[in-house]
Amino acid sequence: MNLDEEEITMVEPVYAPWDGRRVPVTLLSGYLGAGKTTVINEMLARTDVPIAVMVNDVGDINIDAALISRQQGDTLDLTGGCVCCSLKNGFLEAFDELRQRPNPPEHVVVELSGIADPRSAASLVNTPGFVHDSTIVLVDLDQFLRFEDESSVVADAVRAQVRAGDVLLASKGDLVDAAQRAAVMARLAELAPDTPAILADSAHSIAGLANLGARRPVPQLGEGASLFDQYRTSVVSIPGTITRSDLDAIVEGLAPTTIRAKGIVQVETGEFLIVQVVGNRRSIEPLPMAESTAPTDLVVIEVG
Ligand SMILES: [Zn+2]
Repeated sequence: MNLDEEEITMVEPVYAPWDGRRVPVTLLSGYLGAGKTTVINEMLARTDVPIAVMVNDVGDINIDAALISRQQGDTLDLTGGCVCCSLKNGFLEAFDELRQRPNPPEHVVVELSGIADPRSAASLVNTPGFVHDSTIVLVDLDQFLRFEDESSVVADAVRAQVRAGDVLLASKGDLVDAAQRAAVMARLAELAPDTPAILADSAHSIAGLANLGARRPVPQLGEGASLFDQYRTSVVSIPGTITRSDLDAIVEGLAPTTIRAKGIVQVETGEFLIVQVVGNRRSIEPLPMAESTAPTDLVVIEVG
């Protein structure tokens, strides 16, 4: 036994930011060229809610962050390492920086580095004031098979990303033919058989999906669909007189093609519940008192 180690008591700093409210964190993953930056720019452009964006670029020069327009949101640059491994502390410090702000953002979006393992990054997110909402993985239809063919750190990284995703979005569909699209989708189904994989060529639609990760759902999908888009958004209004079991039935009854749903519901007992569907995860949980807010419609995004 190492006595020295036993005597050291780690004292975690105690934060109780924003009266215990939790800000949802969406991880946006994907190898280089998959279109993450475009999606984040779309997200910032289409919503008024304050989004804090963390951009992780492993290189010394943070090109990704330079491309992100800073007019609508604020960006925390995480440079010089990868937040899932060599820059873990920097990642945690970025959350510290947000905690010190008087008002919480509504949503944190993390653009992970091309080589990051989203599962490792997700394990760091659930800290006071923050909760991992979802991991969205962009897969470049044009390059994925080539990346995966390389027996290298790149191949490992792209496979780990696919396996860690709640939803897989295949981008760059306009660059490939039908056979290649089919080949990539088949490979994704092998790697992550239980995870919805969607052909989604428009950054606009992907941004709409990601925006649902905000604390209150932002139903702003709509125009801008492209040839490969298969999203359908609907808004279900839930009466305040609904019982918990009827709400359960609605959520259980959502079509299997549902990839995302979110809403804050007050049931007849007065209790507030948060409904969340992300890929295959469906949950209805009490909304913590600190997050008490007016009920919303249930926003549902389906594929097909
Ligand atoms: Zn890493």
